[in-house]
Amino acid sequence: MEKTAVFADTARWDTTRAGESRIGREDPGSQLVYACVQEFSDWGVRFLRPNLESPQEFARLIESGPCEALVLFPFTYTKHIADGLAGIFKGRVPIIYGGQHAGIGAMPARTLAEGLADFVIAGRGDTSLPKLLRDLADGKKPESRIIRHHDDVPKDERYPLDRLPWPLRRADLMHDITPKEPLPFIPPPTLEKNPTRCVLITGSIGCSARCDFCSTWMISGSVLRRSPKNIVAEMEYLQKNFGPGLVYMFADPLFNSDREWVLELSREMEKKGPFTSVCMADFRLDREMVRAMKRGGFYWIMLGLEFASNDMRADRGKHIADPVNAFRLCSEEGMITRALFMVARKGMTYQELDAEKAALEAMPIRADQLRVNFETPFDGIKMARNLRPEDIVLTDKRLWTTQFVVLRTEVPTESWEGIRQDMMGNYVWCGRQMEHYARQIDLFPELEPVYTDFLEKQKPHSEK
Ligand code: SF4
Repeated sequence: MEKTAVFADTARWDTTRAGESRIGREDPGSQLVYACVQEFSDWGVRFLRPNLESPQEFARLIESGPCEALVLFPFTYTKHIADGLAGIFKGRVPIIYGGQHAGIGAMPARTLAEGLADFVIAGRGDTSLPKLLRDLADGKKPESRIIRHHDDVPKDERYPLDRLPWPLRRADLMHDITPKEPLPFIPPPTLEKNPTRCVLITGSIGCSARCDFCSTWMISGSVLRRSPKNIVAEMEYLQKNFGPGLVYMFADPLFNSDREWVLELSREMEKKGPFTSVCMADFRLDREMVRAMKRGGFYWIMLGLEFASNDMRADRGKHIADPVNAFRLCSEEGMITRALFMVARKGMTYQELDAEKAALEAMPIRADQLRVNFETPFDGIKMARNLRPEDIVLTDKRLWTTQFVVLRTEVPTESWEGIRQDMMGNYVWCGRQMEHYARQIDLFPELEPVYTDFLEKQKPHSEK
């Protein structure tokens, strides 16, 4: 008889500060693993993502249906929920941990040592988790309690992910664009007049960069892609079943690492769409790529600037050093940009902060938005290896979401939130930026309502 594994997805949302992003929603990594279990094992799957902080309440939901194995892929900030569940189900069913917290670097051994996990999936779980479940169902002793990736997805195929079923979608798991978490930039009306929902879509997984503050490459340092045709077929399906008004948020950690793939996907999206879309890219953009993406429906790209200095970026593992060309190209082609930036690094001084701000202002380009986050030493990532307990000022890991200061700096901890808000506000509300928006609107009149809406949302509440 078919057994059932429960994927207890501990993703939380609405727990960050008002106006900040929700977190963990529709995490594509767990959806992928879920699809792999369906494809490569005889197990049935119950995928639960109830957004519950209380393990007891969550456990009641799990107990309301079959559960012969419990799969937990928490993040550092949701591990307390996973641990609570594991404690409740320990000894009743096999407990399997993995993902961006338990599955990276030295974490699998640490997780086992904590005593709640029976097995830990290290790295990608696409084939190792189905294999473990098959072994359990067959009564075979699994080869080890820490199970690393097995290479049984055929790598000679260019697009092994096409073998997998598409994630099951539920309207309530897609996030509404309004009113709770408005997209900072609505699409230009020439592309989508009435955006209503945002849907995450996965074109590729893994990242070949090696940023020391990130866990993504530690899960999968090689990139696997879906074929452009397969992706666009899913978009057509989504459009038909959940449209109109969808905005596609590509969850690929690094969208543009294969130029030919980007061009082909953009062409396919243009042919069957366009499909209003957003993605995260690095600085390897060129004019042909940006134009093709725009024709396919992309209107907004998030770029991980992280630091103002090229040397600092390279030093931290981000080797695509020079952002100027990428931001300039996007402006010239009418593509909206968000620059992601990171402060509150270990030991950061006022002097370093001022130097970063000055270097940011000195850049000969403008992003449309600056988003500032705090550096968070998630368990298992490279930069967290040499930290001492006295380097940490926030010990409650439930708050390690990049929205709270975790590392000790020379700038007082309590000053950072004000600094962060000022940096983001000052970037937008200055003469240079207003000139930038005016120039963009002059070149691309369809962006006027986009910027007007954005600036309205950026205003402090008192001014609205
Ligand atoms: S490029 Fe992005 S996803 Fe890749 S390792 Fe760096 S921060 Fe992580």
